[in-house]
Amino acid sequence: MSFTDLGLKPELARAVAEKGYVTPTPIQREAIPAVLAGRDVLAGAQTGTGKTAAFILPILQNLASQQARAPRALVLTPTRELAAQVAESARDYGRHTGLRTLVIFGGVSEKPQIEALRTGCDLLVATPGRLLDLAQQQLLDLRQVRCCVLDEADRMLDMGFINDIRRILKLLPGERQNLMFSATYSEDIRELASRLLRNPVAIQVAARNAAAERIEQQVYRVPKEHKRHLLAHLIVSGNWHQVLVFTRTKHGANRLTEQLVGSGVRAVAIHGNKSQGARVRALTDFKENRVTALVATEVAARGLDIKELPHVVNYELPNVPEYYVHRIGRTARAGGSGSAISLVSPDEAPLLREIEKLLRRTLPVAALPAYAVTAAPAAAGARVAAVPVQRHEGRRWQSGPRPGRRPPSRGRAPSPSASFPRARRPV
Ligand code: AMP
Repeated sequence: MSFTDLGLKPELARAVAEKGYVTPTPIQREAIPAVLAGRDVLAGAQTGTGKTAAFILPILQNLASQQARAPRALVLTPTRELAAQVAESARDYGRHTGLRTLVIFGGVSEKPQIEALRTGCDLLVATPGRLLDLAQQQLLDLRQVRCCVLDEADRMLDMGFINDIRRILKLLPGERQNLMFSATYSEDIRELASRLLRNPVAIQVAARNAAAERIEQQVYRVPKEHKRHLLAHLIVSGNWHQVLVFTRTKHGANRLTEQLVGSGVRAVAIHGNKSQGARVRALTDFKENRVTALVATEVAARGLDIKELPHVVNYELPNVPEYYVHRIGRTARAGGSGSAISLVSPDEAPLLREIEKLLRRTLPVAALPAYAVTAAPAAAGARVAAVPVQRHEGRRWQSGPRPGRRPPSRGRAPSPSASFPRARRPV
């Protein structure tokens, strides 16, 4: 099946061919005809499935070539990165149509965005906060919007955007097409869908809440204070050239980045406290292989599209099990394969159980390799001595330290509570 078989016009089919797409992905096969027919859509699709083209292509076709000053299609995304990425895709896909796409998001000056809005656009991609800001200042007219997309709707709800979304929807004409994309389904999502969508076409391209099957998932059970050493070991000994590492906090991301740099790994952090410029630079450096490890918090990593990302590491497990599905979805995108490794300390055992319940499977536990435990940096940013203080012999932390071989972590052995009662065998 080709893109023209789905009813797409030659100028759009040409643009996707130029992107190197040969056949539509499953979500594209199902969503494109439905959106072209003007139907509302509720799609359960993980990131990496090609969902952006699944809604952008038919929207561009429905907009035809008529150009207006006020936007006629609106895509709402939870993060700036995703907004920028969706807009970039829309410009690529629409390059032969003459349609104009604009993107607006917070964290940067509004001035250029206001200027751009004055010149007009057909498709507007936005994060909710900045969109509302500009609409409330009467700088943006949403009365022409005929199609509204909530992309990564579950994320938007998790990030507390529900009130902003409600306010935005009030600014749109009642008569319009609505599309909703979500990787996971909670009661809140179902509720929002039932209020927003009229007789939607329901599309589910992967089993509900299932992690992508091509992703090889593994768990290392490791004391918290050893995580950084193990991670540095995995990166260096595995010759990894690109790894996305998730931490739970911005501070944690900064600290781990410093520690990795201290271990000789080129690493950079990306999180909400970084300026937009720094975030873009970090992402570009990572994509272009100038840094090996991108250390990210949940929110900052959302929507990042990095081609053929081979490794994702959960340095800390997420508090919300669904986030695990999202995080590991950063690898094995669009037909590739990838590995997702979780470093799980004893206190995270309940979180792991929750994730496994969601996945309906037990994640394989890998035997710990022998990794070197190095001294802490003398000062922030200082290089760690290259000499291993002591080697940790590969084994599972299952019954506390062996007699006579204190596991070294700045001279301290892991506390008894840092032991797991029983290591699970790989399944
Ligand atoms: P998305 O799920 O929209 O974030 O897309 C994930 C990745 O898949 C992006 O890098 C797209 O450029 C790519 N992609 C989308 N559709 C196709 C397709 N039909 N064939 C190959 N790659 C695709």
